[in-house]
Amino acid sequence: MRNFEELQKIIEQWAKDKSLLHAENADKQFMKFIEEVFEFKVELDFYKYFKSFKHTNIEVDYSIETVDKYNKLQLEMGDIFVTLIVLCRQIGIEPTRCLDMAYEKIKDRTGKTIDGVFVKEEDLRGAR
Ligand SMILES: [Mg+2]
Repeated sequence: MRNFEELQKIIEQWAKDKSLLHAENADKQFMKFIEEVFEFKVELDFYKYFKSFKHTNIEVDYSIETVDKYNKLQLEMGDIFVTLIVLCRQIGIEPTRCLDMAYEKIKDRTGKTIDGVFVKEEDLRGAR
């Protein structure tokens, strides 16, 4: 399997070959990203229905139907990454740097997970 950097490079080349890498295409690319997010959600709901898994307790079942659902779920997540990689390139930002910045922001964050959602300390204080 290729690593993230290799995939980023060939996806950017693919986008370049399709004449997508222009800043003026960024709004349309953003809509493509949103479209893919919803396609992922459809697969997530279908997968959840199919597997009836709970948020933190995914049981692995290798039946053909489940593998097919799992593959579709992964493919839709991949589509999201593709749209983001293309969008990043269109506006001249580096995906890995964005991820690094986001991690730096959250790494020391304190807070509490409430009903499956992490709520940062400052928002906990605001909610009181
Ligand atoms: Mg898709």
